[in-house]
Amino acid sequence: LSDRLGKIFSGLTGRGALSEADVSAALREVRRALIEADVSLEVVKAFTEQVGARAIGAEVTRSVKPGQQVVKIVHDELVAVLGEEANPISLNAAAPVPILMVGLQGSGKTTTTGKIAKRLKDKQGKKVLLASLDTRRPAAMEQLQTLGAQIGVDTLEIIAGQSAVDIAKRALNSARTGGYDVVMLDTAGRTHIDEELMEETAQIKAVSNPHEILLVADSLTGQDAVNLARSFDQRVDITGIVLTRVDGDGRGGAALSMRAATGKPIKLIGVGEKMDALEDFHPKRIADRILGMGDIVSLVEKAAANVTAEDAQKMAKKMKKGQFDLDDLMGQLQQMKKMGGMASLMKMMPGMGNLAKSLPDGRTDDKIFDRQVAIIQSMTKKERAKPDLLNASRRKRIAKGAGVEVSEINKLIKMHRQMADMMKKVSRGGAGGLANMFGG
Ligand code: GDP
Ligand code: MG
Repeated sequence: LSDRLGKIFSGLTGRGALSEADVSAALREVRRALIEADVSLEVVKAFTEQVGARAIGAEVTRSVKPGQQVVKIVHDELVAVLGEEANPISLNAAAPVPILMVGLQGSGKTTTTGKIAKRLKDKQGKKVLLASLDTRRPAAMEQLQTLGAQIGVDTLEIIAGQSAVDIAKRALNSARTGGYDVVMLDTAGRTHIDEELMEETAQIKAVSNPHEILLVADSLTGQDAVNLARSFDQRVDITGIVLTRVDGDGRGGAALSMRAATGKPIKLIGVGEKMDALEDFHPKRIADRILGMGDIVSLVEKAAANVTAEDAQKMAKKMKKGQFDLDDLMGQLQQMKKMGGMASLMKMMPGMGNLAKSLPDGRTDDKIFDRQVAIIQSMTKKERAKPDLLNASRRKRIAKGAGVEVSEINKLIKMHRQMADMMKKVSRGGAGGLANMFGG
């Protein structure tokens, strides 16, 4: 992501690039914030090295300090590493869909089992059966039974003396004959990871063939988070993570540690003891929490928006005068790359919807932008300012310089002419409106 940020601004003047010294000074602060947020040291090291390498050379938005820019880059990268916004529990399998809950003792498995069951019942109208496979803790089965009664969800009949594996088999049978949509298996944990726990979990998995295996972990887990997540993932191949006690003073470091260690999505977070204290995972919120530098992030975002608006206004003025040259096109291409493609940008501009449709490919990808920018960069200053100079021999020279066919140069010049004409027409309708369109 920061890599792209760097490229976007590289063609624009008046902004400095991040030096190695800027980046390492800012990263010292970032490292401290991550450690304070209890991100595992292994992950802190890997993450900051990765971000550092990308941040060096990235452009700094006007009116922003280099350190602030680094924080923004780190924040964006953090959001990217933490994963997608919505990761719902999948029920995309034959009913009854088995969901296996695993984790250490006291992590919140039983509570989370109740919360998820309530959500599936209330929001998706699913018929859920709960089964406690916890044969170790006295009254563990009764705890789940009580919860079930409280939320109006059925629990498997308690029969003393059965093994966890036998209870799992019985739960699946009951769910099948009872016409349930989902069967949730709540397992016994241990105070720490040991072979016995892993073996039992693996056996339960083998007999129940779960569609989801959710690792329930306390957000205050700290340095053990990586080891915990990795152990479970290697042994039973978890499908997702539920982070509990996010309402506590933990700063969410475990989310980053576990995600980085396993690559598995964080699906939900527990934010209290009550049955409705379950929320979707929002990577941006957790990133804010981990970094604790939300103010800086929004400051840099605002500054970047201002710069975009200023550039847009300048551009609108030039268009009004019919002075849209190839340098401007290059700036626009870089801007468009950032905004998700030429077609999507043009659709937002009044009178440009048809042109968007007539573009060679409705969805232009980043590589095409890069090639077009390379073509313009192979032109002389004069040629960029006066595209009429571009005769056949000049076009040949440029094609060679940019490593493309002459036909691509022709296409680009044609596109520029179309855009310039279109912009002249549109800007007669009022440059202010156009500037607003560009400024977003
Ligand atoms: P298990 O041993 O993994 O089954 O853990 P439990 O579900 O029995 O939970 C242990 C304790 O943690 C209980 O007192 C729960 O109320 C509490 N708990 C679980 N999830 C949360 C949460 O998201 N926030 C808070 N504050 N407490 C939680
Ligand atoms: Mg339990």
